Amino acid sequence: MDVFFDDRVLDHDTGRGFFEAAADWPLAIDEPHPENADRLRNMRTLLRGGPLADRLRWHDGRLAIVEELARVHEPDYVASIERWCAHGGGRITPTTVLSTGSWEPLLAAAGTSLAAADAVLGGASGAALALVRPPGHHAQPAQADGYGVFNHAALVAQRARDAGVARVAVLDWDVHHGNGTQACFADRADVLTVSMHMRHGPWGPSHRQTGAPDEIGEGPGRGFNVNLELPLGTGDAGHLAILHEVAVPVIDRFAPQLLVVAAGQDGSQFDPNGRQAVTMAGYRAFGELAADLADRHTGGRVVVTQEGGYALSYAAACLHATVEGLLETGPLLDDPLAYLPERTDGVDEAIAAVWSALAGTPLAR
Ligand SMILES: [Zn+2]
Repeated sequence: MDVFFDDRVLDHDTGRGFFEAAADWPLAIDEPHPENADRLRNMRTLLRGGPLADRLRWHDGRLAIVEELARVHEPDYVASIERWCAHGGGRITPTTVLSTGSWEPLLAAAGTSLAAADAVLGGASGAALALVRPPGHHAQPAQADGYGVFNHAALVAQRARDAGVARVAVLDWDVHHGNGTQACFADRADVLTVSMHMRHGPWGPSHRQTGAPDEIGEGPGRGFNVNLELPLGTGDAGHLAILHEVAVPVIDRFAPQLLVVAAGQDGSQFDPNGRQAVTMAGYRAFGELAADLADRHTGGRVVVTQEGGYALSYAAACLHATVEGLLETGPLLDDPLAYLPERTDGVDEAIAAVWSALAGTPLAR
């Protein structure tokens, strides 16, 4: 697998505070914003130094140009982000922080994702990982959200369409709803978006989408947006059940020519931002499932964008397990942390809700 990385993404400074918020309470210690450079440093170091090291080829990323961002984002929005950074940054949403130096890192995250896409689309790579930050899957055409500003998975999917790939599927297993990617492609049938996430609902003006199964797309895109919404506390078995019972058949029917995976590790049992109980074994199985889908439909072509994952050590371990799965190596790293009891009740109802919402649409059961 080819991994694309650009050191400049580490320069996006989100500061310290009350977790992700701006609350000014009398506490002794301000903690780092959960979306920080250290999380990516750990991911990079574990991939470079762990048992997968010999299987990975590292490549430098690059900066995106504004015209590339404009394939997904409105030009006025892109210009407004550059101005925000130039004028000192600040909170562009209640949880999304920009700093004076953020503009170039944001261009590096987007450009590095496009470099990964181009490597796969051009045939130089079969599977590529864009190891970038901040996450992009909440970013909408003209709205920053959930720590993210530019939508990397959407940029990759659109890049593929622009290169003549007829059908692109985006599979998003970050613990949060991929509302930004949904917003980018809701009215289109050429890009299938499938998001698996915990049931968290909307979280304010930047995130009005609920992530519910009945958000199935609009107009010609009706039936091509699939939301797999799981109860809080669901673990490996529940996530794998809804993937195998809904995501796989839907993607099989869609028959994509490129698979994009928006890979977050914040569904892990130790993530401060999720309420799920996925383990390294679960992420390994997600990766294996994506590899199987790519083998069946895309000749193995898959582009992975790094999304959330905020447990400083365990998210890196879960990314390593994900790549083990994508490369079908079997388990290489043991899970060093104890396992929580997992719940699976409510998953059958979650599966039934998706099929009910999709009834009568082209990918329906
Ligand atoms: Zn997330």
